[in-house]
Amino acid sequence: MNSELTAYITLICTSGVLNLYLCFYVFLKRHNYTKIARFFIFYTSFITIYCFASAFGLMSTTIEEIKFWTIIQYAGMPFSPPLGLLFVMQYLGYKLSIKKYIALLIIPIMSLIMVATNDLHHLHYRIFEVDPILGAPYVHQEIGVWYMIHGVYTFACMFVAFLLVLFSWKDTAKSYRGQLLALLCGQLVPMVTAFIYLIGCTPPGVDPVPMVLWLTSLLYLWAISTSQMFRIMPIAKDSIFNSINDGVIVLDESYRLIEFNRASNGMFPQLEKSMFGMNFLDIWNSLSGEVFPFELESVTNNEELKLIGADRLERIYQVRTSALHHINKSQGLLIIFTDITELKGLQLELEHQAYYDELTQIYNRRAFFQICNEAFADAKSTSSSFTVILMDVDFFKRVNDTYGHYMGDLLLEHVAKVCKSHLKENALFARYGGEEFVLALKGYTASEGEVLSEELRSLLETQPLVTSEGDLSVTLSFGVAEATEGTEETVFKLLNKADKALYSAKQEGRNRVHVYTEREEIFQ
Ligand code: GH3
Ligand code: MG
Ligand code: MG
Repeated sequence: MNSELTAYITLICTSGVLNLYLCFYVFLKRHNYTKIARFFIFYTSFITIYCFASAFGLMSTTIEEIKFWTIIQYAGMPFSPPLGLLFVMQYLGYKLSIKKYIALLIIPIMSLIMVATNDLHHLHYRIFEVDPILGAPYVHQEIGVWYMIHGVYTFACMFVAFLLVLFSWKDTAKSYRGQLLALLCGQLVPMVTAFIYLIGCTPPGVDPVPMVLWLTSLLYLWAISTSQMFRIMPIAKDSIFNSINDGVIVLDESYRLIEFNRASNGMFPQLEKSMFGMNFLDIWNSLSGEVFPFELESVTNNEELKLIGADRLERIYQVRTSALHHINKSQGLLIIFTDITELKGLQLELEHQAYYDELTQIYNRRAFFQICNEAFADAKSTSSSFTVILMDVDFFKRVNDTYGHYMGDLLLEHVAKVCKSHLKENALFARYGGEEFVLALKGYTASEGEVLSEELRSLLETQPLVTSEGDLSVTLSFGVAEATEGTEETVFKLLNKADKALYSAKQEGRNRVHVYTEREEIFQ
């Protein structure tokens, strides 16, 4: 064996051993790695087959031996470029179905069959014989139709994989570029070598590709050990970033846009990657036609922002910012948008339920006391008059007994509606109990309260509830009490007086207004 051949075999075996080492290394550590490592194991194992079969081919002395090792070579070589492509696609986050995986391997399987049966059809190699001048293991070959198909396909797989990595270069953070470099070379080195071989610039009779694959293996080893390939990858980072439900916008220290995630794109559909580098405040202005409502430096707490979405419906966002620091140096800002529309709706609904009576949709007792205490304190501090009116439906039990509970409910709704229609928008009017209502009037004296009560009384008397079974009239009795000046007066005491006045109104025959006087204390 001449020294040239020995050098070839040594180089090829180096490639084989390194690939085998890579394959085992990743295989043994596969549990610590992401799923993508599995494709790499397949990829390197097929390259290993290719390299060793190629080395054994160069040690052959007969055409039969050469043909045998060529077939073994084809059990590895045609599979490695599509597997390399699949590996790259997985790495970059492209998802393929099982059918597509299999489809990519059809041509390599055909190539293996074609080479194994070449003597029958000569479609892969038209001529395949020992080189008449150089002798075994050098071969003289003339390529057939299938060789062309196989060649184009192999080349295309490597080229596509190369382009995919190249196009993701710009969007990938610097810390991951070592991984990308290994991937680029992993495609480029065999591709360029195969091209040089095809145009006849390498020694004749031997395939030089396995002789250079040690270089790509070393690069992969470097990427695995130094930049944590298979442990953390840009695509993993991207998928985390994009799976966040909150809209996250990343700005640099001059508030220029440098990144945004998928959720923020959903919130602001006009946001585009072409806007990278533009000032965020200008972007906001051009997208919404408005000035960004908050100072970017100070949005640390939950600010709320209302925006009209793509569906023309209003949405409410909670906006927060978070400064990005690196070794005590400001590196930019994160703006986080959380869609709280549903939460806000629920909160409003709960607030409504807590403060409003379900049947009549006016304030409930709890809301009444809360607001009335504040209004009373306010009236006291400004020495203004304050009057409360308690009203109770007359003989309401009879309504329930005669027409049923449902009709009773309708009647209570009707009473509340009639009263509301006559009262001022901001009047403190509430359902005090079953068929009792209360009205608190700041700035009203007892006689003004009496006038208002009389208006309400006659309105209710003359406006019956219209039902399909006829009109239903009810009357109400009113107890009016004005707060006395002095520190002892409380809302509770005042309501007690109004209750006494109401009792008197009932006693006097109902459907009337009674104003509290000291007499109530004597007679009750
Ligand atoms: P009075 O003129 O003395 O006030 O007689 P009344 O029948 O109105 O008085 P009473 O307090 O004895 O009856 C009030 C009734 O109101 C009893 C209760 O069943 C009914 N009631 C209380 N809350 C509701 C309600 O939400 N819906 C209906 N339909 N009835 C209610
Ligand atoms: Mg009652
Ligand atoms: Mg009653």
